[in-house]
Amino acid sequence: MIPYSCQDIDSTDIEAVTQVLASDFLTQGAQVPAFERALARRVQAREAIAVNSGTSALHLACLALSVGPGDRVWTSPISFVASANCARYCGAEVDFVDIDPRTGNLHLEALERRLADAALDGCLPKVLIPVHYAGQSCDMRVIARLVNPYGVRIIEDASHALGADYEDTPVGCGRYSDITVFSFHPVKMITCGEGGALLTNSLELAESARLLRSHGVTRDPARVDNLEAEPWRYEQHALGFNYRMTDLQAALGLSQLARLDAFLAERRQRARRYQRAFEGTPVSTLHQLTEAHSAWHLMSVLVPAGIRAEVFRRLRQDGIGVNVHYLPIYRQPYYQQLGFPPGYCPRAEAFYQSELSIPLHTRLSDSDQALVIERLLHHVEALT
Ligand SMILES: *Cc1c(COP(=O)(O)O)cnc(C)c1O
Repeated sequence: MIPYSCQDIDSTDIEAVTQVLASDFLTQGAQVPAFERALARRVQAREAIAVNSGTSALHLACLALSVGPGDRVWTSPISFVASANCARYCGAEVDFVDIDPRTGNLHLEALERRLADAALDGCLPKVLIPVHYAGQSCDMRVIARLVNPYGVRIIEDASHALGADYEDTPVGCGRYSDITVFSFHPVKMITCGEGGALLTNSLELAESARLLRSHGVTRDPARVDNLEAEPWRYEQHALGFNYRMTDLQAALGLSQLARLDAFLAERRQRARRYQRAFEGTPVSTLHQLTEAHSAWHLMSVLVPAGIRAEVFRRLRQDGIGVNVHYLPIYRQPYYQQLGFPPGYCPRAEAFYQSELSIPLHTRLSDSDQALVIERLLHHVEALT
């Protein structure tokens, strides 16, 4: 099976992890801070906090922004469930804003209307979590302009978008948001095995996330009482978690980050080939904003809704590992139990009915890509 995505591990990655295995520190050593510095430099943010998953990063981002019971968090229905679950972990209510089917990202007019209605009803969200679907940044300048008058904070879920840019600055630089979150799961742009990070320009938010990453415990002399007389002391100042990244993961992340530009070039070249191949066919590719350059985490295409399921089945039979991203989050049984009706976001539903994610990764060979193109066009033609 040609996978829709897969990691790219080479001998430098293996060497980096092996060196840590033979060192004194498997966790809480020098690799995590080194990875954090490299990440912050890469995306032009002041602070980076590495954690054990993108999901943990989203949870800490919500907590750093004081999301709690009685608060509301809005996100996109076309995302992985973690984009919504993070608010539920904090006891907050989640709601979904419909998407623009041309990009899979939040629909700007829908957001504008929902904000105006919520302001009238006194139920504005505390936080909005835009998701950079498939690796293309949302139109963050507009989103920030829409939410700022209402005091809504922004967490960018950039799990798909490490290496992407928007208005000539890297996603993660925080120009239009409070916190940006990345995931380093093996299908994402770079991998740590499992891993994630929060990026922010706020020292206060960074400090809060760092504290909560490790049990809410600190050894900071400025915060711990009586440290001179009792130098072994640490203090717990909040109810935190063990969301720490290991040094093995950070070493892999550092090594992978050095390869990010090469990964981006490989993905962009393949994405362009797909775009050209599907021009003038019933297979459409996502609209790309002129001010954004996608990281191309996913090659998401839309086919006529009536044949999508059959095209999926036939491609899988051909050994092509297609996938669908995503069933709208509110249609998951857990969210149905919370009362979201089917059809809640009509554009997201329509997008879900047409979407197929076809193989796109750095190890996809030219001949395998040619096969994907030929088989997809063949099945679509036969079925329409
Ligand atoms: C992968 C992903 C996450 C979660 O990241 P993990 O590292 O797997 O916890 C969150 N949001 C989106 C959009 C993702 O694709």
